[in-house]
Amino acid sequence: MEIKITHNPNPAPKPADESSLGFGRIFTDHMFQMEWDRGSGWHDAQVVPFENLTIHPASTVLHYGLEIFEGMKAYRTAQGQVQLFRPMENALRMNRSALRMSLPEIPPEFMVKVIDTLVSVDRDWVPHGFGTSLYIRPFMFGDDAKLGLHTVDHVRFLVIASPSGSYYAEGINPVKIIIEDEDVRAVRGGTGYAKCGGNYAASQRAGERAEAKGYSQVLWLDGVERRYVEEVGAMNIMFKIAGKVVTPALNGSILPGITRMSILELLRDGGFPVEERRVSVDELVAAARDGTLEEAWGCGTAAVVSPVGRLAYKGEEFIIHNEKIGSLTQALYDRLTGIQWGQLDDPFGWIHPVC
Ligand SMILES: *Cc1c(COP(=O)(O)O)cnc(C)c1O
Repeated sequence: MEIKITHNPNPAPKPADESSLGFGRIFTDHMFQMEWDRGSGWHDAQVVPFENLTIHPASTVLHYGLEIFEGMKAYRTAQGQVQLFRPMENALRMNRSALRMSLPEIPPEFMVKVIDTLVSVDRDWVPHGFGTSLYIRPFMFGDDAKLGLHTVDHVRFLVIASPSGSYYAEGINPVKIIIEDEDVRAVRGGTGYAKCGGNYAASQRAGERAEAKGYSQVLWLDGVERRYVEEVGAMNIMFKIAGKVVTPALNGSILPGITRMSILELLRDGGFPVEERRVSVDELVAAARDGTLEEAWGCGTAAVVSPVGRLAYKGEEFIIHNEKIGSLTQALYDRLTGIQWGQLDDPFGWIHPVC
């Protein structure tokens, strides 16, 4: 399928001060859009000037939340090259999310071509500083103009992009997290492994409660026994316990992060002992008490790696690594960001050059 490009006749001035970009507040001059209709499939693929959408008040997404998304970044190297990190993994994951939500798949090669095209058109919007990036947000939603929910006959897919500042503009400071034992994010058989808006809607209340108590993220437990650790906020979670990296195995309710997968590949490649298995909150508390919980970090595209300095559970607080970033956490951060921003070799073939 060809992608038609209509250039924005009124491009906005690029933000001059990269340190005040923040996250997801400013958008580029263009966006990608295409539509799907049962019978005719995907059609009208085009890059158009960024603009508001027109949507029918009865649109499926507004009432039944039929929506999935992806999150990825374009990085600018010191030499000026713009590149992506494992975009095919995002495309494949989007299709797994689509299947779960009865939304149509997109040929993964075409989705990568769409990202390449949009990033090329808006390449001047990719910021320059190490740690800054162009955040890319593909999303898809059911858009039938009727309240009766049967099969979805009309779907829209868009990609928008937002220049974003460094996640660690003020340096890497370990975060305080609280184990949530009331609300659950997802259950097996539900939509936990799909990147869908509804999972975030279900997480919102616990996140706000945690913030009110002074914690930046929620550590989610499994939905059945409330005993096994799943994820932290919208990141995957990893622990270093007695010299080994331990992370919850993908069980259907955990989102399979591309950062998670990449860190596990880096560790295994370096011969580091790694265990993907169930991790109970009792094991964590015991390890925190006897000092074998050496490091803990969340991982995801936005932060890459986010060290955990303090863990609260049922009114008790546990300090991890003196609330300082641990050496393994730091090494993983340095290696991954080094590859993403083109400072280090990429022996794994993860980098996808764009322009
Ligand atoms: C996107 C996401 C992650 C991290 O995935 P990455 O591919 O590493 O960015 C983890 N958990 C949830 C719930 C997410 O939505």
